[in-house]
Amino acid sequence: MRKEITPRNVANFINGEYVETGDIFETLYPVTGEVTARVHAAGQAEVDAAVAAARAALAGPWGQLKTDERIDMVLAIANGITKRFDDFLELEVLDTGKPYSVASHVDIPRGAANFKAFAHTLKEHATESFRMDTPDGNGAWNFGVRRPRGVIGIISPWNLPLLLMTWKAGPALAMGNTVVVKPSEVTPSTAALLGEVMNEVGVPAGVYNVVHGFGKTGAMITSHPDVDGITFTGETLTGSIILKATADTLKATSMEMGGKNAGIVFEDADLDLAIKELGRSCFLNSGQVCLGTERVYVHESIFDEVRDRLKDYAENELKYGYPDDDSMNFGPVVSDEHRDKVLSYYKIAADEGATVVTGGGAPHFGDERDGGSWVEPTIWTGLAHDSRTATEEVFGPCVALIPFKDEDEVIKLANDTKYGLSATFFTKDASRALRVAPQLEAGIVWVNSWFLRDLRTSFGGMKHSGIGREGGVHGLEFYTEISNVCIKI
Ligand code: NAD
Repeated sequence: MRKEITPRNVANFINGEYVETGDIFETLYPVTGEVTARVHAAGQAEVDAAVAAARAALAGPWGQLKTDERIDMVLAIANGITKRFDDFLELEVLDTGKPYSVASHVDIPRGAANFKAFAHTLKEHATESFRMDTPDGNGAWNFGVRRPRGVIGIISPWNLPLLLMTWKAGPALAMGNTVVVKPSEVTPSTAALLGEVMNEVGVPAGVYNVVHGFGKTGAMITSHPDVDGITFTGETLTGSIILKATADTLKATSMEMGGKNAGIVFEDADLDLAIKELGRSCFLNSGQVCLGTERVYVHESIFDEVRDRLKDYAENELKYGYPDDDSMNFGPVVSDEHRDKVLSYYKIAADEGATVVTGGGAPHFGDERDGGSWVEPTIWTGLAHDSRTATEEVFGPCVALIPFKDEDEVIKLANDTKYGLSATFFTKDASRALRVAPQLEAGIVWVNSWFLRDLRTSFGGMKHSGIGREGGVHGLEFYTEISNVCIKI
């Protein structure tokens, strides 16, 4: 049902305290377009204060915690999120407009899990050790020692706000770093609320800091001389700007960026399963999942059947409504700006000669939701593999279906993109699964599933989708520095 919204204040969180600046920007409820929050933008003074607090905390009680004590604290943060589950849920829904059913199953539980998953990584991971020969015959021993990298700047996007920010804050803190977070200006609330949890569970002041604002505020972090590393999730173009900005101060970077992920349905696929998983991968979170599928190659022998069944999924399984409506699973996109971008691609697709199987526009409700940022789930056929619609990231609930004839051809088509984040394909042939998967140029490949995530595994993109890997022990490369100690015997 319709929410009564009283706009909240969202402040920066610096050195354990909420800091208002009076430099206000507003965020809107994407369901109706109403103002939900007045956010205090940080300027250079607040960014400097946050970085200084983070630096000081490294040398303070946080830096002196024993590993087991830090593990306990990181686990306490996870529990603290779970205790405040409803508060996080409420704010995530207000910022994004996504259904409670999505945020309560995906965003908030993963926010807590991101701390839990990394709590023990450093402790359980062995470092390398090599004995070497020396001319005097006595030899020497080498061994690696890991230490936290230092002050980590986290720049995060709006599509899964708490999930993607904690995906970085979790391992950063677990490995002993301190952080300065710049959440998306569109969805600042849950990052700010996490500050309360940090204080509630006794995380020392300065370990976790949040500054709000647009790209300009982010740039103050990426160019800051006292920040040691930048971990970024967002658009590829922004990533490229950030890489340039970090060059002068020679920061370590971990980049998770855009995608144009391929799905493949082979002729022997279990179609019940394929439609269910493709339906999720194309439309979950209104298509605003970096791992989502925006082009699906379907074997020509089953093309019409897949098209008709996916149309049926979009028209009958996806339900618009208010976020608290239990039967609702399809929300607005995050903002008017993003709706306009998605709708501009709906027009480009029409101009490129697409046949619209379903959708293609914006829904009309005849109530206050017409002030929100809604688009229809959309399926196209008839688009060329190299059309703009089939090659550029839309980041909306839309998919181009393209027929293929054989395995070699479809591997080439799937790889013929500047991106390389994820791919998902469907087949009952185990040999084919093992043969095709390693040939796909994507950091994450799913067979007969989608978005099935074990947080111990590597996560990241190839080509323009990413530089570096996070997840499990892979995060050690970015969130810690290793020194080799060589002892002559
Ligand atoms: P975006 O690049 O517009 O913004 C991301 C963050 O960068 C925001 O906090 C923004 O304020 C900040 N920013 C913008 N300009 C900056 C600058 N010059 N310096 C420093 N910070 C700056 O991305 P978005 O629109 O928020 O998110 C959607 C994009 O994120 C899509 O391209 C999607 O594919 C990508 N994404 C990738 C992954 C992944 O894991 N690879 C996950 C989720 C989303």
